[in-house]
Amino acid sequence: MKTAKRKRPDMPISKEKLKDHIPILEVARKYSPKIRESTRLPLIICPFHQDKNLGSCRIYPDTNTFKCESCGAHGDTLRLASGYLDIPLSDLNRLLEALIVEFGIPKDAVSVDYNPKGYVQPKPIERLSPDEYKELLHDDHYTVPTKFELVEYERGEYDYVPCEHTKIYYRTLATKDPEFHDWVICTVSRIYWLRYAHMLDYCQKQGYELLGWAVEEHLKEARKLLYKALTDKSLYRPELRLRNELLGEELSNIPISA
Ligand SMILES: [Zn+2]
Repeated sequence: MKTAKRKRPDMPISKEKLKDHIPILEVARKYSPKIRESTRLPLIICPFHQDKNLGSCRIYPDTNTFKCESCGAHGDTLRLASGYLDIPLSDLNRLLEALIVEFGIPKDAVSVDYNPKGYVQPKPIERLSPDEYKELLHDDHYTVPTKFELVEYERGEYDYVPCEHTKIYYRTLATKDPEFHDWVICTVSRIYWLRYAHMLDYCQKQGYELLGWAVEEHLKEARKLLYKALTDKSLYRPELRLRNELLGEELSNIPISA
């Protein structure tokens, strides 16, 4: 008997998953006409009242919320996005659809879980929390210059100096460009890894047992985090091999290989 090929129905978007993919700060950066991030809590232009100047509406990146002191508007990422995009929360599906398009998120990554017989749900990308990124890479983002100005140092000596920067969050990068994300986290974490490995060697030679133990624990943890962070897990072993090669013969007795 001929059966129709089972086709996966178009599943609705999970708002919780979407919120996990888009930190509120990313929404503010994209839509707020002005933003000030030099303050502990970033200031934005409130989309819920006639706001012209920064000062009344704040972002709370830790809880992914915002609050406006002028009009009292407050809420989560979706509430803030609904204000900027002028799509009410009551029209939730339209808002969610708009956001995945605006942020280039594959629908599969944020669809509600669906598991009929014969259909294997693609494994969601496991991502590090901002704190785990800080542990692995000493920060949860890196900074790139976006604007340069011409500065005269001495008479006739000019140089272009960055005057504006933008922050690239590793978590966001993992969704937007997984391949580049993996390259960046391998390269950056390698530097710290090698430094700690040399430190461990030094501790062993000097007989600093307690410090050596702490460094070794850190290396173990960093290795776990690296594996968890990679969107393409097949990169893990070659990366560890490379690290061991970089350590060289001399340090090959360091018990940090996979
Ligand atoms: Zn307001």
